Amino acid sequence: MPDPLAPGATIGIMGGGQLGRMLAVAAARLGYRAHVFTPEAGSPASLVSAETTVASYDDRDALARFAERVDVVTFEFENVGLDAFEVVEARVPIRPARRVLAIAQDRIAEKTFLNGIDVPTARWAPIRGREEVAAALETVGLPAVVKTARFGYDGKGQTVVRAEDEIAPALARLAPPARPFPTLIAEAFVPFAREVSVLVARDPAGNVATFDVVENRHRGGILDLSIAPARIDVATAATARRYALAVAEAFALEGLICIEFFVTGPGEVLANEIAPRPHNSGHWTIEACAVSQFEQQVRAICGLPLGDPARHADALMKNLIGAEIAALPALLATPGLIPHHYGKTETRPGRKMGHVTRLYPLHGLPDEAGIAAAFAPALA
Ligand code: AMP
Repeated sequence: MPDPLAPGATIGIMGGGQLGRMLAVAAARLGYRAHVFTPEAGSPASLVSAETTVASYDDRDALARFAERVDVVTFEFENVGLDAFEVVEARVPIRPARRVLAIAQDRIAEKTFLNGIDVPTARWAPIRGREEVAAALETVGLPAVVKTARFGYDGKGQTVVRAEDEIAPALARLAPPARPFPTLIAEAFVPFAREVSVLVARDPAGNVATFDVVENRHRGGILDLSIAPARIDVATAATARRYALAVAEAFALEGLICIEFFVTGPGEVLANEIAPRPHNSGHWTIEACAVSQFEQQVRAICGLPLGDPARHADALMKNLIGAEIAALPALLATPGLIPHHYGKTETRPGRKMGHVTRLYPLHGLPDEAGIAAAFAPALA
């Protein structure tokens, strides 16, 4: 086990978004400095960090200078070209490792990896050129979801194909004829009962910790609401946790990752995606656990003892997307609501501007009607 990084050390964070912001705050609480690397000036993370490098993710000189000034590098955003990171890796540890990111960035590599360690996924087939479309859709069957293999997020770069006549329009959107063909993946459409996710941390010594399985609801491809704990039976939760731990072990993970699953039946889940970083579906841990996902990541990458991930409250977490952030004054005025603002000055439709958490006693989540009303009337 390498020596732990002592307080006063600097954590390099690739990416300047809200995940980096909350990570930097958690790092500061434990006495660490954060240095953010981002192409964006005035990013949410840099507003709360000791230092920022504003440069492109493929600027080798800037990456090398950044690496000289930090003690460990981690990611809050993974859609970056990794070739340039050789210069970082030569100077400081990258946690999680570059290999983890490389797999998580590419849906084909990700599904190959998952299936290789016996973690089930939806049926899938790669589409590496137009001539492979028909055979891939034949393999997975209709309805299918066709996704770009790389650089998708928040439901972007994917489309559902329900019938033969929807194939051509779907391709026109995902692979416009004028441009080089982007590698795609076809997945069987999973008629899931629920979507859930598991956060798992592993330190360089191999200690592991998972947070409770959380249930996620999306709207327009973007996470809208997380319900902690997920309303699933013990066997299903145990299966999801077991797969998450298997992924962490197979990666020899150093850091924290999130795995999203579709629940397809009692005790049955299919893995959908790996995020090699803290995840939107883990924000509830800030208030409902003694150690948040962000602090757990800091602990894991610095070689500190992992914290106890036990949940001391049930929780709902609602994202504040686009104009929903205008409800902040009303949310602040409502007892029991815990709002977060990400410091973004420009509101855009679909942009994650903040979130709000509400705690309940353990085993005290409300019913569906109560969940629907949990943030009303502040958030009409
Ligand atoms: P992803 O970008 O893969 O996380 O997909 C975004 C969302 O689209 C998921 O959270 C699901 O709600 C939905 N989705 C993605 N893949 C599938 C699938 N194979 N079957 C059904 N729904 C899917």
